[in-house]
Amino acid sequence: TMEFVRATQLRGDEEPSAPPAPTQAQQKESIQAVRRSLPVFPFREELLAAIANHQVLIIEGETGSGKTTQIPQYLFEEGYTRKGMKIACPQPGRVAAMSVAARVAREMGVKLGSEVGYSIRFEDCTSERTVLRYMTDGMLLREFLSEPDLASCSVVMVDEAHERTLHTDILFGLIKDVARFRPEPKVLVASATLDTARFSAFFDDAPIFRIPGRRFPVDIFYTKAPEADCLEACVVSVLQIHVPQPPGDILVFLPGREEIGAACEMLQDRCRRLGSKIRELLVLPIYANLPSDMQARISQPTPPGARKVVVATNIAETSLTIEGIIYVVDPGFCKQKSYNPRTGMESLTVTPCSKASPNQRAGRAGRVAAGKCFRLYTAWAYQHELEETTVPEIHRTSLGNVVLLLKSLGIHDLMHLDFLDPPPYETLLLALEQLYALGALNPLGELTTSGRKRAEPPVDPMLSKMILASEKYGCSEETLTGAAMLSVNNSIFYRPKDKVVHADNARVNFFLPGGDHLVLLNVYTQWAESGYSSQWCYENFVQFRSMRRARDVREQLEGLLERVEVGLSPCQGDYIRVRKAITPGYFSHTARWTRSAYRTVKQQQTVFIHPNSSHFEEQPRWLLYHELVLTTKEFMRQVLEIESIWLLEVAPHYYKAKELEDPHAKKMSKKIGKTREELG
Ligand code: ADP
Ligand code: MG
Repeated sequence: TMEFVRATQLRGDEEPSAPPAPTQAQQKESIQAVRRSLPVFPFREELLAAIANHQVLIIEGETGSGKTTQIPQYLFEEGYTRKGMKIACPQPGRVAAMSVAARVAREMGVKLGSEVGYSIRFEDCTSERTVLRYMTDGMLLREFLSEPDLASCSVVMVDEAHERTLHTDILFGLIKDVARFRPEPKVLVASATLDTARFSAFFDDAPIFRIPGRRFPVDIFYTKAPEADCLEACVVSVLQIHVPQPPGDILVFLPGREEIGAACEMLQDRCRRLGSKIRELLVLPIYANLPSDMQARISQPTPPGARKVVVATNIAETSLTIEGIIYVVDPGFCKQKSYNPRTGMESLTVTPCSKASPNQRAGRAGRVAAGKCFRLYTAWAYQHELEETTVPEIHRTSLGNVVLLLKSLGIHDLMHLDFLDPPPYETLLLALEQLYALGALNPLGELTTSGRKRAEPPVDPMLSKMILASEKYGCSEETLTGAAMLSVNNSIFYRPKDKVVHADNARVNFFLPGGDHLVLLNVYTQWAESGYSSQWCYENFVQFRSMRRARDVREQLEGLLERVEVGLSPCQGDYIRVRKAITPGYFSHTARWTRSAYRTVKQQQTVFIHPNSSHFEEQPRWLLYHELVLTTKEFMRQVLEIESIWLLEVAPHYYKAKELEDPHAKKMSKKIGKTREELG
């Protein structure tokens, strides 16, 4: 068991004795009644008047007050979509865009994809009738390419602005510019109660519309001592709530899919062992790539007598509302991207959250009644160890993609674009250098013809370079498949705890000499040969949904290739061509084996092959990697065996022959030459 100390209380705006929110049965009775019960509803007219009177309006309100689902509907009802004008509502993530659109379609009583729809990368659920569109912020950014003045939009509501994603930050700059020259579109910036003064200042002191909160008090508990094992602590806390505490669902925050999977299994396992001694506990995961029918289960009511525990990533912190949560378990971690512009290395690490997160998370417990939040760290740690605010993503990521896009929009002077927080100078510089090295920019920093082509597909510049290069190597069919598989790459294989050996064997059966890219290709090819069968996936421990997604992505990329007039040709099993075609995109992601370890070629940083790689037990001298992830070590994920000479061929401007010299080359060349031939 764990000991908690009650420390503080998150003040509520309602007394603990306030009447409980409507029950689910009542809610079902009338979805309109729920709409009228939301905190934003009494302010409908006032809000619409403010929108009519100001071009830019900042809207601040607690999570769950109805900003995302209601305001676009008010605008629709008010006639903002007359004459085919559209309302665009960018969200910080795919799941948010999809689930919110689905909810709004239900509230409006229309089919998803008709009047209300969503657009996310590789998936467009809209039609000609769609006037209310939820989308990822990245999608809207991309749409500036075809419509730089947003002429078809009457309103753009940049949602969850407090999350400060890279794309939202860039959108701010672009939208501010549009709003300066045209009276349309109306610009709404919706945010949780964070940062709104800054948004207002950025948009030339735009007024802030505050939707008063309606929240019940939340008691906050801290652990007495630091917890060593975060997962175990979560599981124990959930059971400690489940057994003695009164009804109410539980929300647990974990950093990522793996942790969530593990926690769910542990919970199910313990419940099974406790059997009928405890009430039923429904364990539901939620994270970004979760299949949508699983997502739908989250919003279904908990059966009487049972309790629901939702194990979620940050996504449940502000952008997704889950009904009925009374208890929150917060271990205080999140997964964060960081970027080192010196080495050009991006990494995803689990780090302690800033104070902004625990405060939002605790708030999730007080939406329907007085709640409790259990923090799995000490009060001292909260006070002294957590940062005050989260660093915006623009300071933690590489900018290659965004720079390419901005250049395509004709924005050349990037240093002087209007940013809420300008990106670090070195990061911008490095992005320009990389794009130059990829041939997307000329020495003057202007977009080249091929750079222009590359801004088109919604994939990063390295991946699109590889796709376009494949034409030359006569293997565009395979490269396209590879690219599609790489875009879903971390969720291909399925590894259930009770069948680890079988699953690993199945994975190893796909191994091909040459590297993980070819393994992915192999999986897809065999799946296609099976007639895209789900049974085949099941038998081979492959995730059917990921494969289906890869197939969608592939189809879309194929369409894009047609647009830029690249023909499709197969390599007839000549995989060396595929390996060569990957090199023009990823030549800067290379590592060399030197005596006892891999080091990246340019930065000389020590890196390791990921344990899931087909090359884990071998050490080819030269490797190309798809990405680096920092977990316990700096791991290369998806590695490909290459030859140093290819690097000189495709990137003579990047590598000097000397850097690629091989002290052992003479001794080894014969042997390698032979195996290479065998590989053919
Ligand atoms: P905000 O954007 O201000 O955080 P939302 O518009 O997302 O608020 O949510 C408003 C309310 O709509 C929630 O409090 C909840 O009652 C309801 N709601 C939103 N999404 C769903 C859903 N998928 N299922 C059931 N109710 C939902
Ligand atoms: Mg919202």
